[in-house]
Amino acid sequence: MQSIKNIPVDGNKKSLLSTENRHPLIISGPCSAETEEQVIITAKQLADTQKVNLLRAGIWKPRTRPGQFEGIGSAALPWLKKAKEITGLPVTVEVATAKQVEEALNFDIDVLWLGARTTVNPFSVQEIADALKGTNIPILIKNPINPDIELWMGAVERISKSGINEIGLIHRGFSTYGNTIYRNPPMWHLAIEMKRRYPDLMMLCDPSHICGNRKLLFEVAQKSIDLDYDGLMIESHIDPDHALSDAQQQITPHEFDLLINKIIWRIENIENKDLTSAFEKIRQNIDQLDDELIQILSQRMKAVEILGEYKKDNNITILQTNRWNEIRERLLSNGVKMGLSRDFIIRYFDAVHMESINHQNKIMNP
Ligand code: PEP
Ligand code: MN
Repeated sequence: MQSIKNIPVDGNKKSLLSTENRHPLIISGPCSAETEEQVIITAKQLADTQKVNLLRAGIWKPRTRPGQFEGIGSAALPWLKKAKEITGLPVTVEVATAKQVEEALNFDIDVLWLGARTTVNPFSVQEIADALKGTNIPILIKNPINPDIELWMGAVERISKSGINEIGLIHRGFSTYGNTIYRNPPMWHLAIEMKRRYPDLMMLCDPSHICGNRKLLFEVAQKSIDLDYDGLMIESHIDPDHALSDAQQQITPHEFDLLINKIIWRIENIENKDLTSAFEKIRQNIDQLDDELIQILSQRMKAVEILGEYKKDNNITILQTNRWNEIRERLLSNGVKMGLSRDFIIRYFDAVHMESINHQNKIMNP
């Protein structure tokens, strides 16, 4: 599978994101196209920043509840075409049905994207994949709304099987229940795992839908770049407070300009020799420590198994809540003093504890 690093941006078929110059792919534009004027002004202001290489606008909006603004629909397609003619920037829209694919293609949309509510539904993804047969338009695939990377992979496989070879991924966070500072918590580990499984696919971050507000946008965008993402999709609007959808998270093209300016772009590959040898030394130390960790964990499981024999012979339960609470308290207090976060200590030792229970279970219930 290929990345969309080589999507043509203009008549010269220059690559939008070539691996050599590592120009990130930056997508911006309104959550929704609302009026022709709004689309054109936003597009012009974004083009003036010279920091965008793909214009976005939602025209079919999947809304959680009916009665909200559901997008202008295909009547907005000519506005995007015009924005493209005026600015020279390629354009992208979200599609969720075969008919929308067909209409977008009729208006020379350059890239299509699958939204989170589409990726989650294999029927919809398959319908789109079938509609894409015989075309070679680049497709961006957002993660599904629920934290399930198998569904995300399934969408990549379906689209890829339809003959599309320019596919990219967009990480927009995952729905959860309860209060968090994010609208859709990023759960970075899932996107990192997706990157590991598809090292050749471009991974973009959509801080707008992760954050749901403007305050955290920069922090999330920078973090994604630090994690070697290939670019960003950020919603922008000429009058964010009065946007018909996602008002709290949109920023003006000027604010977008400032945000992109502030980002520190990092590189994955080290070219400098001194730096390489410094990395090498530290990494050997890290590898050594990891090996020791594995050995120690294995020794812990052996001790746990011996204890399991005693528990079995004396009919004692595997779990003794008081003992587990004591262990946790001791580890938390020591670990925090040594600079580890509470959250990490809890997650790490919960996993160690579960593995210990499984080892004892095997001894006690062979
Ligand atoms: C959007 O990009 O406006 C959108 C609806 O995003 P998501 O599919 O990530 O919710
Ligand atoms: Mn939106």
